[in-house]
Amino acid sequence: MIEFLSLKDVNAVYADELKSACARVIDSGWYIQGKELEAFEKEFARVCNVKFCLGVANGLDALNLILRAWKLLGKLKDGDEVIVPANTYIASVLAITENGLTPVLVEPDASMNISPAQIMSAISTKTKVIFPVHLYGQLADMPAIMNIAKDYGLLVLEDSAQAHGASIQGKKAGGWGDASGFSFYPGKNLGALGDAGAVTTNDEELASVVKALRNYGSHEKYKNIYQGVNSRLDEIQAAMLSVKLKYLEEDIQRRREIADLYMRRIDNEFIRLPLDKDVSALGLESHVWHLFVVRSDTRDALQKHLAGAGIQTLIHYPIPPHKQEAYKEWNELSFPVTEEIHSQVLSLPIGPTMSVADAEAVISACNSFNGIG
Ligand SMILES: *Cc1c(COP(=O)(O)O)cnc(C)c1O
Repeated sequence: MIEFLSLKDVNAVYADELKSACARVIDSGWYIQGKELEAFEKEFARVCNVKFCLGVANGLDALNLILRAWKLLGKLKDGDEVIVPANTYIASVLAITENGLTPVLVEPDASMNISPAQIMSAISTKTKVIFPVHLYGQLADMPAIMNIAKDYGLLVLEDSAQAHGASIQGKKAGGWGDASGFSFYPGKNLGALGDAGAVTTNDEELASVVKALRNYGSHEKYKNIYQGVNSRLDEIQAAMLSVKLKYLEEDIQRRREIADLYMRRIDNEFIRLPLDKDVSALGLESHVWHLFVVRSDTRDALQKHLAGAGIQTLIHYPIPPHKQEAYKEWNELSFPVTEEIHSQVLSLPIGPTMSVADAEAVISACNSFNGIG
């Protein structure tokens, strides 16, 4: 059986280092807001080439606290519009609605990321933020999006939860927009051994507000300047992340090798591959292959066919936010490109510990699919 992603295998590679880092924290007697967090924040900021990184409890909180901080700073107010891809994971949309802001859902293009042309047509007098999501590990078209933001005076919030280390023209995910949220959920390309997340920004004022918000709205113990939350990245997770961050580039290279094999060797008229980065203007470095997502008109049959060959696949995602029960008021809206994507996508196994032999087994199973199963 070829697992979609074995977290056990992923972390086994670093087991000795992880265990000794864990022991170091246990022995230190200091478990929250200490040296491990500071060290990780400094290193992750360096990797993303930004001035500030603030660890928080998870990716949703990272996105949430950025929007909340912008409201506290007077940059946003209730009802302001935030442009977000209609086919994103629901966390991006939750961060918007939780803050009393209005999501404006926009269709993706063939890259499955938000379409700059569609962003242009969605801009209104109430638009304040563009919220691109680097879905599947592929950076959105940030040069185009930053130009639009500049022309219209809009803030840009990147959802980088799936794209640690991706870059365009040398500029990393998390370093393009005014701020960015990262998730270190265990299955992400940089994953903790539990929940964790981070905010990155070059804006000192924003960094300072987020820093207070994550810790009860307080910079100084027992002095609360905001009605904050408890959203801290603990010392053990920070120590785990510092170990794994050292190997992020290597892990991405392994993912790229698997993706390259898939791109060159999967050849089946019933399976549509992701856009070819060799010819894409965004370049090879723009994709870190968090997921390798193919499309098929007969996706369910393809999934069954692969399962029959012992290959585990997943669907990212089966239901778009506007069709969720949580957002009943949008259920009648129509986003045909997004809805088609959700009916067609299938994520093949990919990961830093996947063997070439396993990738070849996936390729041959894909190539033997006859379109009906
Ligand atoms: C994982 C993910 C999040 C949320 O991260 P959590 O750490 O699970 O809160 C947000 N956005 C996207 C696109 C994600 O994939």
